[in-house]
Amino acid sequence: MSLLVPKATKPRYSSLCSDDELLDDDTHCYQSVTVKRGSWIDDFGSISSSQNSIYLPYTGHVSASPPREDFDSASVPVIKMGWLDKNPPQGSLIYQRRWVKLDAEYLRYFDTEKDIYSKRIIPTVSITGVVNVGDQKFEVVTHNRTFLFRAESDLDRNEWVSVLKSCVGVSRARTSLDLTFNPCVNYEMKGYLEMRGLRSKLYTVVCGDKVYLYKNTEDYRLGIGITSIDMNVGNVKEMDRRGFDLTTPYRIFSFVADTDQLKDQWVEAMRDSIKDALSNYEVAERIWAEPSNQMCADCSAAKPEWAAINLAVVFCKRCAGEHRGLGPNISKVRSLKMDKKVWTEDLIQLFLALGNERANQFWAANVPPSEELTLNSSSDERRRFITAKYREGKYRRYHTLFGNQRELNNALCINVQSSDVCETLALVFCGADVSCDTGDPELTSPIALAQHHSQTLQVEFLSQNRHTELPRSEVKVAIETVHYMAPPSITHNGFLFKTGSMARPITEKKGKEEFSRRWCVLNDGNFSYYESDKNATPNGGLKMKEIVCLAVNPPETHGYDHTFELYSDSERLYLFGTDNPDAMREWVKSIAKSFIPSGAEDLLLKDFERIGRLRYKDRLNREMSRLGWFCLVGSGLHIRLEESNTDETIDLQKLQELSIQPENEVLVLVERGRTLYIEGERKLDFQGWAAAIQRNAGSSGDTLSQQQLTDSDIPVIVERCIHFITQYGLTSEGIYRKSGVNSKIAALLEELRRDARCVWLKEGEHQVDDVSNVLKRFFRDIEEGLFGPEAHAWLSATGVSDESSRICQYRLLFSNLPRVNQATLRALVNHLYCVQRFADLNQMNLHNLAIVFGPTLFQADGKDYSAGRVIEDLIQHYVTIFHVNEQQLKKQLDEITYIIKLRDNLTPKAGTGSGDFICTVYLEEKKETAEQHVKIPAAMTSAELTFEVLDRRKLSVREKDYWCCFEVNEKEETERPLHFQERVLPIFHSLGTDSHLLVKKHFSMEAMLVYLASKVEVSKHGMMKFREERSLLGLGLSSGSFNDRYFILTSTSLRLYKEVRNLQKLQRPELQCSNRPEREWPVKCLRVYLGIRKKLRPPTW
Ligand SMILES: [Zn+2]
Repeated sequence: MSLLVPKATKPRYSSLCSDDELLDDDTHCYQSVTVKRGSWIDDFGSISSSQNSIYLPYTGHVSASPPREDFDSASVPVIKMGWLDKNPPQGSLIYQRRWVKLDAEYLRYFDTEKDIYSKRIIPTVSITGVVNVGDQKFEVVTHNRTFLFRAESDLDRNEWVSVLKSCVGVSRARTSLDLTFNPCVNYEMKGYLEMRGLRSKLYTVVCGDKVYLYKNTEDYRLGIGITSIDMNVGNVKEMDRRGFDLTTPYRIFSFVADTDQLKDQWVEAMRDSIKDALSNYEVAERIWAEPSNQMCADCSAAKPEWAAINLAVVFCKRCAGEHRGLGPNISKVRSLKMDKKVWTEDLIQLFLALGNERANQFWAANVPPSEELTLNSSSDERRRFITAKYREGKYRRYHTLFGNQRELNNALCINVQSSDVCETLALVFCGADVSCDTGDPELTSPIALAQHHSQTLQVEFLSQNRHTELPRSEVKVAIETVHYMAPPSITHNGFLFKTGSMARPITEKKGKEEFSRRWCVLNDGNFSYYESDKNATPNGGLKMKEIVCLAVNPPETHGYDHTFELYSDSERLYLFGTDNPDAMREWVKSIAKSFIPSGAEDLLLKDFERIGRLRYKDRLNREMSRLGWFCLVGSGLHIRLEESNTDETIDLQKLQELSIQPENEVLVLVERGRTLYIEGERKLDFQGWAAAIQRNAGSSGDTLSQQQLTDSDIPVIVERCIHFITQYGLTSEGIYRKSGVNSKIAALLEELRRDARCVWLKEGEHQVDDVSNVLKRFFRDIEEGLFGPEAHAWLSATGVSDESSRICQYRLLFSNLPRVNQATLRALVNHLYCVQRFADLNQMNLHNLAIVFGPTLFQADGKDYSAGRVIEDLIQHYVTIFHVNEQQLKKQLDEITYIIKLRDNLTPKAGTGSGDFICTVYLEEKKETAEQHVKIPAAMTSAELTFEVLDRRKLSVREKDYWCCFEVNEKEETERPLHFQERVLPIFHSLGTDSHLLVKKHFSMEAMLVYLASKVEVSKHGMMKFREERSLLGLGLSSGSFNDRYFILTSTSLRLYKEVRNLQKLQRPELQCSNRPEREWPVKCLRVYLGIRKKLRPPTW
């Protein structure tokens, strides 16, 4: 390989604060939380810009850089670049000057304009917004953070905002995220790698011809990296032991892998990537040998890397996105660099023979100057132009034979025998049939003719266009989505059967005789029904904009097979029916289309049973309700909010809680940590929604995946039973073998099936044998069984005598199971594994369990033992088959041992416990040695738990030590001290997998007590930074930024004021009443977490 790699490099380790750092520090603010949980406010005072961030030092520096042009020659054209100030890192007031570069793919910034490797690389696809924030500043918003920049002038700022917006627009147009542009897919290797001189490892991804560096996996997932390294200039050298260097002419990256084996893998992956990069350029360079191919055929951008292999044009990435939108029947889009395999010698020659210039003589023969694209054209303009050009053939040069099919075909057959592919292109895209009859009995198709005459380029062109759709000017497809525009005017008519409108829900079946046949017309936003299609005056009708909900009934709900209901905002319900399923579908789509705004039209693509608008509130914004469009499809509730442009989906089967507050007609949906309140603005349609949502939140059928599920995709029913048996049944002799009380089992199973979420199994109230039989019966009855339709394959696997190949077989079968079956099987086998580990207590050894569970899980009679054999194998080889982390398993078994031991000690006092759980609580910090297993009765308070834990560790409480129990969320890095009177058990049950309970000293307590003691009245006020979660469910949509607000906290409420000008008045309580706060929250409803949510960028002062 002849690369410009320096022979001797002088390693240069820069100091931590050196401006050599590659990695920027806009993220270090959450690092500080890791260091000092819950006290980022303390940190802010001290200027500690280097303390908590990681920097990437140069490990080798190359003195003389080759000219930039070489490096840039093949990259995406830069749209805008210049100097900008980036917001100061936390703790600093000084803006950082950055060289910022924008191309269609990435926004990058560098220390200087000479740098090759960025400090930050943000894919334009991940930018969710660009906001002008005044004072020459603007914000670039991504899913997990916001970058603030300051330009030198308003003019410059406005320019940046406008080009960024148009780029983001391009990316938005591919809303479903065209993943070929995203390094997250198709990677060759990824993982954490140590970089010499750096404290933290970097998440490194080798992908195609590039290596990307990310700070961590979270950033990787969101695509926000530090830099990317083009491997066409790279070279990999193995160094001592686990080290290796990636050298480029500009810098040397010294990596250290975790193991020798990993090092080999990394080196190989990077070398492959270099090979890739070099061979990638081969195709591009060859295609670009034709000068007109060096410019995008559509917008003239330089060095286009994409092509439509059937249209024989080369274009840029931005245009490629729009070409792809046309579909492969019109434009077969391939990359010159990534799709190496398609680039056969013939195809390359075809592109050289045709090329952009000659192809455009046909495709772009008549482009009005006003419609021409430029480099700066917006995505809408590109889409319009490219659609007109290739789909409609609007600008093409019409062949003289156009319209005369026979002559066209004839001309094609003659022409393919020559080398003139340009003429073939013109003939084919003016209508000549690529597979027309040649009249030659031997050579029946034009391709055969061309082959016979050795016209390989003709063959290539014809083959690429065998299935191409011809340009048709009449095709007008609405591909532009403009959000919240009035819905298009839909016209539809036909006969429907209708009943009289009513003001209450329909609860009874309506017979055919209750319907009358009506001619119905949907036109211009009005739906009218007539006595017959001859009548001119309608019997009645309703305006589409009055419709608030459309519900599709299950077939055969009423006398007519197919019926649907329309709800108006004046609380009327209209029922329509037909026996024709197609007519029904047409009507439903047409009506839905005409009252759902076009911004929410994605919802229309779904096979919904109910669609309409509702008002909702979320937890943080309970004062003002907002409008959303909701659509219910099975257990998926899809939501489009008014000010958002993406859909959110709530999986109703995974809700933690679902309830109706009857007094104010609010439906409360609790997902993990998120709450949504759907309001009954109108009674009638709300009732319908509430019933449907409740129904679909329950089990929707008898298969596993149709059950209510936990976060980890296990049916709630299964989890409840396993949890209960683990707590109370592991020492019960003959557990799972003994039968319970039949009537109780049936009743409990019925209850769980109806709504497992609401059933809490309690000791005393439920017997272990009943619960164990509920679990067995559940599995026995489940449709398709736990092993699914491939159950027989599991059974025949037992015939494989070689143990290791049998295990392989099981693993393969396991990997083929659906997600829910996998999670459930894993959980169940884990449980059974634990059960048999305590066989000395419960007498249920491997074999005994297999006898019971074999026939149960395979829903067989148990006459032959192969079913039992499968279970026996699964339990026996549990660790290998399920890739179990043995340390975790050991921990789990230890936990169970504790539970058993504790129960033993408690037995004498039995009878007192009902519903108490043994929970893991940590003392001072979360580590294994600090674990305590505490039996928590339903009534135990936080204070009691704290004493219990301290007591066990024989820790005496000294004066001014304020021990307290905290709820800690590791993922968000937040914590909340529990009030000493708070009940622990409900909190324990509500904890997600990222959270745990921790007993530790509450350091702020003393300050609080002093504060309280010094004040006659508990009140506090002052300015604080405030930020509100705008996204409905905290799903990571664009979030608000921090703003200054004035707060007053009294013993009863927390109030927020937007205006500060009445500060004087506010400080005098007697005047407070004259000032209405913008927001007010009752103190007893507040839940205060300390720390800062991980994804949240804390405010900068
Ligand atoms: Zn272009």
